[in-house]
Amino acid sequence: MSSKVYYMDDRSASAETSLVAKMINVYEAAGLNDIISPGEVVAIKIHCGEYNNTAYLRPVYARALVDHVKELGGRPFVCDTTTQPYNPYSSRVTALDLMLTAERNGYNSGTLGCPFIPADGYLGTDDTKVDLPEGLILKEAYIAKAIALADAVICLTHFKGHGVGVYGGAVKNLGIGCQSKRGKYNVHQAFHSRVSLGASAFFPHLCRGKACPTWEACETSCSYGLIKITDTGIEWTPEGCVNCLAHLKVVTCGAIQDPPDNHDMAAAAMGDAALGVVKAVGAKKMGYINMAIDIAPFCDCVMFSDRPLVPNIGVFASTDPVAIDQVCIDMVKASAGMSGSRAQDFGVAAAGVNKFSAASSVVGASEALQVAVGARNGLGSQEYELIQVPVGDPVKPRFHWDKRPVGIRLAEPFRREKVYPENGYTRNENFDLELVR
Ligand code: SF4
Repeated sequence: MSSKVYYMDDRSASAETSLVAKMINVYEAAGLNDIISPGEVVAIKIHCGEYNNTAYLRPVYARALVDHVKELGGRPFVCDTTTQPYNPYSSRVTALDLMLTAERNGYNSGTLGCPFIPADGYLGTDDTKVDLPEGLILKEAYIAKAIALADAVICLTHFKGHGVGVYGGAVKNLGIGCQSKRGKYNVHQAFHSRVSLGASAFFPHLCRGKACPTWEACETSCSYGLIKITDTGIEWTPEGCVNCLAHLKVVTCGAIQDPPDNHDMAAAAMGDAALGVVKAVGAKKMGYINMAIDIAPFCDCVMFSDRPLVPNIGVFASTDPVAIDQVCIDMVKASAGMSGSRAQDFGVAAAGVNKFSAASSVVGASEALQVAVGARNGLGSQEYELIQVPVGDPVKPRFHWDKRPVGIRLAEPFRREKVYPENGYTRNENFDLELVR
């Protein structure tokens, strides 16, 4: 059965066609007002962006949604979760780090109009376990407590590429973003006998030991002390490896080589973990917005943002996380790639060619993994009906703290205080513009 996905493009020429106004338009068109009843606590799940990432969603989108939820009588909070220590200098691993990074990126109670909450506690162990007998890979998921206990959840997602998930959309926002840290280890296949990084192939002879100029980076990447660099080589203790990913970028000599299916299995498992969130909260209390803009090749989890793979696509809303992602995947595929982007580097810039598998996934994995699992476990449908939403009410998106026209709003202050010099301005009245044209 197909699901409805509501869509507006990214073009703007007026207040009512701003992306903020369009976001609220598609949200309402998708019937998402109905997931919230007055007095209910509403979690708005965003990705606050890694330190120095610049493609993450600007806080104004979350703010507009917060204001809208308040108008509906809800009690909103905006949240994100702690991450795995997936690189040696991760900036969101504890609640302290996450809040500092979120605030640096503009997410705080002042900008949002409600609290920003790390949803899985200080270290990422505050969670609710959900059984997943329907799961294709995972049979349990660990959902960040603040999300699992919310009355309703809105996933406000930046749609883009992702090194492990291949793409990052609503399913990944649920299947990684709403999982606690131990939930993320689960999705990334910690302790899996075959595909976990603990099952990596070990080639100690490739390591030059302390003769290598970057040996300290390797040893200090592992929070569990499993990597030791000796004078002449490397010692690695795979037992206890939680698949945190932290050593991947620094052990570049090939001494530890991850199993071929590690990333693919994690991407597929996101589809199961996403179902865990829906089971915890209830499908009728969940809504999804995808902002397919600034579609950088890698996720907002990295400390940089490359040129987008394709031009902005638009704004989407749905009650089905699989369908909304499938639409975005298809529209990115249908789009011509951005000139000079990684899509062009990898020869996939032509319209009609998959972009993410080649230009985003570090192992060239299929971009269907997340949605195909989600379609099979009952999370949603890959079949969709795309509904174009007309431009909305021009009055609604106006400055909402004071909707009076400026002629009325400013008449009295301007009467009391002159905002120009009493005797006019001093300037060259005869300046010839042709001199500078
Ligand atoms: S050995 Fe395992 S736990 Fe240690 S950094 Fe690598 S992935 Fe993480």
